[in-house]
Amino acid sequence: PLILGLESSCDETAAALVDSERRVLAHRVAGQEAEHRPYGGVVPEIAARAHVDRLAPLVEGVLADAGVTLADVDVIAATAGPGLIGGVMVGLVTGKALAHAANKPLVAVNHLEGHALSPRLTDAALEFPYLLLLVSGGHCQLLLVEGVGAYRRLATTIDDAAGEAFDKTAKLLGLGYPGGPAVERAAQGGDPTAVPLPRPLVGSAEPHFSFAGLKSAVARAAASGAHSVPNLAASFQQAVVDCLVDRSRIALAACPEATAFVVAGGVAANGVIRTALTELASRFDKPFVAPPLWLCTDNGAMIAWAGAERFAAGLTDPLDTAARPRWPLDPEAEAVRGAGV
Ligand code: ATP
Ligand code: MG
Ligand code: FE
Repeated sequence: PLILGLESSCDETAAALVDSERRVLAHRVAGQEAEHRPYGGVVPEIAARAHVDRLAPLVEGVLADAGVTLADVDVIAATAGPGLIGGVMVGLVTGKALAHAANKPLVAVNHLEGHALSPRLTDAALEFPYLLLLVSGGHCQLLLVEGVGAYRRLATTIDDAAGEAFDKTAKLLGLGYPGGPAVERAAQGGDPTAVPLPRPLVGSAEPHFSFAGLKSAVARAAASGAHSVPNLAASFQQAVVDCLVDRSRIALAACPEATAFVVAGGVAANGVIRTALTELASRFDKPFVAPPLWLCTDNGAMIAWAGAERFAAGLTDPLDTAARPRWPLDPEAEAVRGAGV
């Protein structure tokens, strides 16, 4: 089957055509950096309007790139949450309209499932169950991915997400938006041992994460005027690396059944983090799997691929499916979190 995937949950408008043989026939991403840069971060209303302007031309674009028409598409997959609700509604309503007009099944995709299954698009050998470090703008979780729709959450962040920490650090260092790539670039000229910074939760028995204190420590170190921006960026990035490696180590030790150690989400595009996680996986004798950089940050191909996997499992959704601002991959773990973790 040929799957059209639509993504609009944050500040990337994206569409892609992927088939069930893992071929990416076309994919296009339209960022919104110029629109949000004056505000130093994503403005939800501006994002939603930008998705409205861009999505239809992107769909026409990927159909043209692949040399097909809507009639050749077998399944329409659209992100239905979690994310900024205005944007999610734009993509989901577009998906519903296309599905209705072309009389094709709709798959309403959880954006996090898009990230979680994305490594299987480029690595056909990756089998369930695998241990996933999901590091993105809104999430930082360790999950045992047992199958399509079957996620066991082992850990989450008790405050900020990893990408959020990069974005806030970039903002306070004057590196601008989007923050992750800017911090990584600045860090290349810095000394990762120059600024003493905390490693929150490192050494604790549960593999949870915390980044709010780290960000505050960077703010204090920056305000002291004693450190260069490259040294601050490099030291911050190293602290994040140490936290991710230590927390993942606990989860790897707890999951001997995992076939591989996998990282996905926007922060997985970071080269220093990828190198450190590669080394960690080898210590546990596990294959390390990370999607190519273009598949780490938000894109339509991961939504199309999650749609392909769900469709193959017989999972489609009615046209009255609601958009969801919040949508945990593991509702059971979320209930526990509500109780305090
Ligand atoms: P979520 O997937 O949790 O809903 P999102 O979709 O906004 O959030 P992604 O697009 O998956 O997040 O990832 C964006 C995040 O990744 C941003 O916080 C960005 O700073 C971070 N990021 C992107 N590239 C890098 C990099 N090279 N180094 C560190 N962080 C990065
Ligand atoms: Mg983004
Ligand atoms: Fe994302």
